[in-house]
This record gives sequence, C-alpha cells and structure tokens, in this order.
Amino acid sequence: MSLQRKYFTNVEDLKIFLKEHTPALYVSSGTSTVIPFEALEKVIADGVVADLSGIKGSLSFRNPGELTVKGHVTWKEAKEFCLQHGYEIMTSPTEELAGILAGIATSCTGERSFGFGNLRSQIVDLVFLDQNGEEKILSSQKKLDPNISASLKDYQNAFSQFKNFKNAPYPRFEVETDLMTGTEGQLGIIVEATLKVRKNASETYLFFKLPKWTEDYSAHLEIYEKIQNFRTRVFACEFLDYQSLSYIPENENPAPGKDLIFLEIAQEDFENFYNDFVAQLKNVAEEDIFEMNGSKCRALRVLVPRSIFEVNSRMGVTKKGTDVQVSREHFRDLLEIYKELNQLGVACNLFGHFGDAHLHFNYMPTKEQEELCLKKFDELYSRVLKWNGSPFAEHGIGLLKKKFIQPFHHDVQRQVFRDIKMKMDPYQQFFPQGFMNVEGKV
Ligand SMILES: Cc1cc2nc3c(=O)[nH]c(=O)nc-3n(C[C@H](O)[C@H](O)[C@H](O)COP(=O)(O)OP(=O)(O)OC[C@H]3O[C@@H](n4cnc5c(N)ncnc54)[C@H](O)[C@@H]3O)c2cc1C
Repeated sequence: MSLQRKYFTNVEDLKIFLKEHTPALYVSSGTSTVIPFEALEKVIADGVVADLSGIKGSLSFRNPGELTVKGHVTWKEAKEFCLQHGYEIMTSPTEELAGILAGIATSCTGERSFGFGNLRSQIVDLVFLDQNGEEKILSSQKKLDPNISASLKDYQNAFSQFKNFKNAPYPRFEVETDLMTGTEGQLGIIVEATLKVRKNASETYLFFKLPKWTEDYSAHLEIYEKIQNFRTRVFACEFLDYQSLSYIPENENPAPGKDLIFLEIAQEDFENFYNDFVAQLKNVAEEDIFEMNGSKCRALRVLVPRSIFEVNSRMGVTKKGTDVQVSREHFRDLLEIYKELNQLGVACNLFGHFGDAHLHFNYMPTKEQEELCLKKFDELYSRVLKWNGSPFAEHGIGLLKKKFIQPFHHDVQRQVFRDIKMKMDPYQQFFPQGFMNVEGKV
C-alpha cells in the first residue's frame, strides 16, 4: 500500500472517482498550514491525494451582489473579477492563491472579518458532491435537519459560548451550509458556491507606529479597546510586530524597530474617522500616524509571512505558530502569555488580526528547540481552554493540530461528529484522518 496522487481536470471524472469510495484527501491550492504537504507520506500511509486544482474555474454574478464560484478559483482571481464589475469580496485571507471553495472547507477568515464577519456569514448556498458523486445543494437559509443527530440540540447549546468567535473549536452546525463550512472536506467535495459581495468603495489604510509590545503594550490595548465601537466603520484592524517586520527588506519597512497597527477604512470616511477615533487616542503621538494606499498596504501585509517563510526555508527551520482567538476580557492575558513565550530565547514574532484578539505567535526553532516550543504551546492551549477561547480560529485543524484540539472536544461534540460522519461518509472516503473521525465509543 502507498499514497497515490490523482489529478482532476473536470467534475465528471471526480464524480466517477467518488463512486469508487476510495479514501482520499482532496487538495486545492495546497496552502493549508495544518497539513504537512511536504511530508504527507509520513502521516498518511495509503490512500489517494486527490488534486482539485486542475478543475477549471468560472465566476459569474447570479444576482447583483451574489458571486457564483465554480471549480478552482483563487481569492486573487475572484477579487480581480469583482473589481472589474464594481464589487469587492468581504473576506480577505492573506494567502490570495488559496482556493475559494477550499476556503469554505477550512472556514477561512482574514483581515476583513473585523468589519464584515467570517466567510460563513457570506455564503448564500453551495453545491457539493456526496459519497456517490451526486450533486447536493445546501442553503444558508435552511436550518440543519435535526434528525442528523439526536445530540444536535446539545451541541448547538454548547456552541453558544463561541458565537462571537470567528471560528470555534468545532463547526457551527446550525444551517445546512455549515455541513461544508470548516469540516475540511470530511463530508463531501464542494464544487460550487455563491457568496455575498459588496459594492466596491475606495479604501485607505491608517497606520500607527507603536513601541515594541514586549516592552509596553498600553498604546496597543488602548487601540484595541476603543476600536471595538467602530466595527461598522473599520473593515480591518491588523498588527505586525517589530520582529516580524525585521524579516522584510529594510527599504520596505515603514517602521524599523517599532510595532505597527493598521486600520482599513473607507476613503470618504477618513476625516470623520480621524476626528472620532484617531484624535481621541491618548497614547499615540500624531507624528506616529501615517496613511498608506491599498495596494502598498496589501503588498506589505503579504510580504511579512512570505519573508518569514523564505528565511525559514533557507535555514531549514519549521515555523511553529499559534492561531488563538480569545474573548475581549482575556486579550491582556493572551498578550502576557505571548510575552512569556517571547522570553524563551527562541527566535519569534507576532502578527495578525489584532482587533479580533486573534494573533499568530510564531517560533522559528532550530531542530533542537522544536520540542521545547511544542511544550510551551501545550501550556498555552491549556490556558486557552480555561478561558473558553478558540485555539485555531483561522487555519483549521487538518493533521497537525489534531492532537491539540482533543481537550476542546467533549462527548457531545464527538457524538455529533460520529453521527454526521456515519450518515454522510459511510465508506470513510472523505479525509478519514480528519478531526471528525472519532474512535472508540462515546
Ligand atoms: C502565508 C499564508 C497566509 C495564510 N493566511 C490565511 C488567512 O489569512 N486566513 C485563512 O483562513 N487562512 C490562511 N492561510 C491558510 C490557508 O491559505 C487556508 O486554510 C486556505 O483556505 C486553504 O486553501 P487551499 O486552496 O490551499 O486548500 P488546501 O490546502 O488544498 O486544502 C485545505 C483543506 O480544505 C479541503 N478542501 C480543499 N478543497 C476542497 C473542496 N473543494 N471541497 C471540500 N474540501 C476541500 C482539503 O481537504 C483540506 O482539508 C494562510 C496560509 C499561508 C501559507
């Protein structure tokens, strides 16, 4: 037995393959950070890696403000298409080459979740292929059939503590489309989706240069607290720390030795917003505030993770990163823990979705330091569990985070996973190594 690779160029071949019920991991752009694509053979001994990236994509507007995506389409392609037609997409993952349909499978989020909510809230309906290769339609307007699991009600009750999170430790399972949202390809293959988009408006970006958070984060916290009242006017509230900025070329770094928080706002709101928000900040000096246009800002934002990735690859280092989101009351606690982690003596950095209390803390350990970093993350997740936080609010669980998610899943979640898997994946053909495959009796 070994791991086979299969490349699909059309949906009809995929339907035929699904009828064979072969266990497979379905892959789109392969940018997931929780699947070790470079060493899959070590984790999945046999089965098929089914590559969907060759399935020709198409984009169209079904109704004004409703974008239909079929096949393999990247966020970059969809953004460009929308702009050509006077619209814009409300989800903005940093990795623009990832697939949109895969984005539903990972319940992908991004900078703009601060102002526009998560991708889940933008899905109108979708089409997926079931275990027999048959097309099934799911609507976000229809409640999930309660007969799918006798424990569904308890599951939904348990979920309510996470309703303000971008992604909880387990899928929402409230409306039909939730069956494909954040379930990481474990219940079927999405071949089409319609998303809400908005009329395009020009944006601008306001930057704040701040002291290093490791020395003094009072200005950071002031922005965090005050920005919560501006969610209808601020689309994104992002953070890049001095360490993450040190990886990019010096001439591209707008604030060497400093942290940056930046906000995306509507160009036409600039003056009012300046008076209502910026002028009220007590801990930020006026000379530390500057404006940047959209394309320059996006280039900077993408440059940081890419530069870190390049440096790591050169040094043979595997990044060990967090994806934790906490509630407002625990944001200071999270920063305190990250301060502790920062003092370990391992190269590290911090960036991410500041306004949502959702930051990526990354260690860049040598081989010898890896184990220590993972132990530290174990301790971090125990605290996140106590705070009722979400350990993986953006990149999902995949294969690499399965061990860490276990304590966040209790009998009720496991029972629902088991019931839904039995109904929708009776042959265990959809990513059988995924987090929904619960072994043993509950
Ligand atoms: C530099 C960088 C930045 C990133 N930034 C973000 C970010 O801001 N926000 C974010 O959410 N993620 C981010 N990611 C993670 C990643 O881009 C997302 O998880 C993305 O949704 C994966 O898309 P993909 O096409 O690469 O899917 P893949 O990696 O190919 O697959 C991911 C999962 O989706 C499943 N899947 C793929 N296609 C389908 C389908 N058609 N139907 C059902 N299941 C399917 C697969 O089985 C797998 O479980 C980032 C990654 C990198 C490397």
